[in-house]
Amino acid sequence: MLDTLDAQPPDALLALIKMYAADERADKIDLGVGVYRTNEGATPVFRAIKQAEQRLIDEQDSKSYLGPEGDTGFVEVLRPYIFGKDCQLTDRIGGMQTPGGTGAVRLAVALAAKAGVTRIHLGIPSWPNHAQILDDVGVETVPFRHATPEGTADLDAVLGAIRTAGPKDAVLLHGCCHNPTGIDYTDAEWGEIAKAFAETGVLPILDIAYQGLGHGMEEDVAGVRIVLDAVPEALVAYSCDKNFGLYRDRVGAFYMMAKEPAQLAAIVSNANALARANWSMPPDHGGAAVRVALSDAGMTQVWLDELDEMRARMRRVRDRLAAADNEVPGLGLAALAQQNGLFAMLPLSKEQITSLREDHAIYMAGSGRINVAGLHAGNTDKFIAALADVTKG
Ligand code: PMP
Repeated sequence: MLDTLDAQPPDALLALIKMYAADERADKIDLGVGVYRTNEGATPVFRAIKQAEQRLIDEQDSKSYLGPEGDTGFVEVLRPYIFGKDCQLTDRIGGMQTPGGTGAVRLAVALAAKAGVTRIHLGIPSWPNHAQILDDVGVETVPFRHATPEGTADLDAVLGAIRTAGPKDAVLLHGCCHNPTGIDYTDAEWGEIAKAFAETGVLPILDIAYQGLGHGMEEDVAGVRIVLDAVPEALVAYSCDKNFGLYRDRVGAFYMMAKEPAQLAAIVSNANALARANWSMPPDHGGAAVRVALSDAGMTQVWLDELDEMRARMRRVRDRLAAADNEVPGLGLAALAQQNGLFAMLPLSKEQITSLREDHAIYMAGSGRINVAGLHAGNTDKFIAALADVTKG
């Protein structure tokens, strides 16, 4: 039976991690894997999470089962950050904890499919797992262009996708810090997107994986809130893995907005049933640590301060790269200052990416995506010089 299975290609980024680890050159640079790095190249446990974990160890008195919805305290304490302190939609929004943002996206797509969605419009390029999840759930991916060659969002393409969507279609959008391009919609563009959703009744699936890493906690969800205020129903997938540095602890949440408060329980019960059949319940520890941190004003401030530092550091790297636009013409580096989050796409050829790796010990995804957090004061000049070298006529 099992011998009928064809070998699947290894995950390209994970393969890159191995190659990077095996490279003995001291000045190697890893721009591949999507984690935040400090000026020293580390991905430390957040200070607030360390404190929260300590409190958990001291005070947690049971690890008995919860339900498929996970830690409801975690789900509730996160709400005001996503939907706003004065959110008027609270009685229409229900949530649950998920294994990372991936689990939340999986649940969103599976729930949409269970409700009758057969096709999901997706801006391309996107996080590669989006299409994989759609495929695995059995939903067709309908691609539209996410960005223009000038490095701005392609508003016409997304509006076209929403306006031409059929009755069994949904549209999946990144809430902020688009992966892999870093190119987000402006608030004015979100307004037009919200209007198109409202006029057509198409279901929005909003994926927020990097809140706080673009312009700020409030700013980064402004677009999502504009959409939620305008539409009858929506699904929101959320990851705490980047903005709390919890990657391997797998912390996410999934929120469902119903047309009417009375419909919410039925919708949530379907998501619970799907979660039960998929993973039964999410891993507890990371979500519990977030709950403890966000339930304590002191720890919350420590967390927000760390997030501010991270965001400011990535802005400095982006500004430095943008300032090098003249040194490396043709790559559109100037636009990086206007883009957000961990990622940017450079229009490099396969040969140039290979040369960066082989000749300069610089590792990046084969798509040309770089993790700007892999750069810092000590290696950015080398990176710019290497770009100039591989792109010179
Ligand atoms: N959505 C997007 C757009 C992402 O980039 C990621 C992480 N790479 C996720 C969801 C999932 O994040 P995680 O499962 O690590 O929480």
